[in-house]
Amino acid sequence: MAITRTIEPETTHRRAMKAPMLDRIAGSATIIMTQRARELRAQGRSVIGLSHGQPDLQTPDNVRAAAIAAIERGENRYTPVPGLTELREAVARKFRRENGLDYAVEETIVSTGGKQILANALLGTVEPGDEVIVCAPYFVSYPQLVAMAGGTVVRVAPSGGSGLKIAPEDLDRAITPRTKWLVFNSPCNPSGAAYTRDELAALAQVLLAHPHVWVLSDDIYEHLVYGDFAFCTFAQVAPGLRDRTLTMNGLSKTYAMTGWRLGYAGGPAALIRTMTLLQSQVTSGTSVISQWAAIEALDGPQDFVAQARDSFRQRRDIVVALLKEAPGLDCAVPDGAFYAFPSCRDLIGKRAPSGRRIDTDTDFVDELLETDGVAAVAGSAFGLGPHIRISYAAATEDLTEACRRIRKFCESLV
Ligand code: PLP
Repeated sequence: MAITRTIEPETTHRRAMKAPMLDRIAGSATIIMTQRARELRAQGRSVIGLSHGQPDLQTPDNVRAAAIAAIERGENRYTPVPGLTELREAVARKFRRENGLDYAVEETIVSTGGKQILANALLGTVEPGDEVIVCAPYFVSYPQLVAMAGGTVVRVAPSGGSGLKIAPEDLDRAITPRTKWLVFNSPCNPSGAAYTRDELAALAQVLLAHPHVWVLSDDIYEHLVYGDFAFCTFAQVAPGLRDRTLTMNGLSKTYAMTGWRLGYAGGPAALIRTMTLLQSQVTSGTSVISQWAAIEALDGPQDFVAQARDSFRQRRDIVVALLKEAPGLDCAVPDGAFYAFPSCRDLIGKRAPSGRRIDTDTDFVDELLETDGVAAVAGSAFGLGPHIRISYAAATEDLTEACRRIRKFCESLV
C-alpha cells in the first residue's frame, strides 16, 4: 500500500535543520560587508575595511601576563556559572569606583562577552506579547534577541531637532502597559552619540513614572568618550531606577579584548539568578583564563585606557574633518565609541558613474565598495537611514585614504 505524506511547514523546517524561530532572525549586515570586502581583495582589488567594530590595538601587557600566569598555575577547571568570586568582587569594585554603584557579589554576573549578558537578560525574561524599546540607531543584536525571545521590538527614533539621540517625549510615546525593557546604549554603536547626565536624568524621569519598565544599560563604550564628555549610567543618575536596571559592560572595547569574550553586569539578584540559570544550560562559566585576565584588567593599572582613548580621539578628529570635505555627507561629531555615522540624505536619488541609482544607504555602501573599495555599513542596518557607519578603529593611513575615496565617490554622484 502506498504511503502518502504531506509536508507540513514545520516538517520543512526540520528538514532544513532550522527552527521556525530563526526565520525571525536576520544575518548581520556588518558580516556581509566584511565578507564582500574579503572577496574583492581575493580578486586583487584594493579594499579598505571600515565595517568591523573592534579596536585595532593589542591587549595590555599586564592583562596578557595575568592570563599566561593563570595557564602556568594550571587553571583548567570549570568556574562557578556566574563567574569566579574573585572576578565578581572585582566587578563590584569597578562599579563602585567608576560608577558610584554598590552591587553585592550576588548582584553581579560574568558571561561570554557582553553579547551573552544581553542574550541572558532578554531571552531569560521576554515572553511573546512583551514589548522591548530599542533606540535607533541601535546595536544590531538588540532587535534580533528580542525577536528570538518572541517579543515585539518597539523602535524609537530621534525626532525633531534631537539629532541622533532620543528625547524624553520620544520615549514616553513608546511606553505601553506591555513594555518590559528599554534597551539603551551610550556611547552608541553605531552613531557615537553619548547622553549627558542631564539628558539621562530627563529620560529617567519618564521611566520613574512607569514602574513596570526595566532598563538594560549597555555601557560597553563607557571609557571611549572624548574631550570633556563625562560618562554616566542610568542607575547612577537615577538611583530610583537601580532596582530595575541591569548595568552591562565588558572588556572587549575598553581593553582591546574582543576575542577573549568577557562581559559582565550588575543588577537585582533575582534577575542575575535568572540569567545564571539560562547561562548554566548554554555555556556555564566563561573561560577561566579570560576570567583571571579580567581581574587584572579591572583591578590593575588603567594607563592603557587613557592611551586608547587618546588614540581613538585623534582618529575621530581626522575622520570627521576629512568627511566634512565630502559633498553631500553630513557628519555630526561623535562623542564616543569609534564610529562616525554621517547622513547621506543629500545623495539619495543621485546616479553613480556605473549608471546605478543610489536610492538607499544600502545602495550607497554597496556602490562605494564596488567602485572605490571602501567597506562601510548602511545606517538602515542599525535602524536609522540614510546614514553610513564608518569604524575608525583602523590605521591612520587607511582612514585618510578611505576618506579620500569616499570624497571622490560622493563627487562622482550626479
Ligand atoms: N553592545 C554593543 C553596543 C556593541 O557594540 C557590542 C559589540 O560590538 C556588544 C554589546 C557586544 O560586545 P562583546 O560581546 O564583544 O562584549
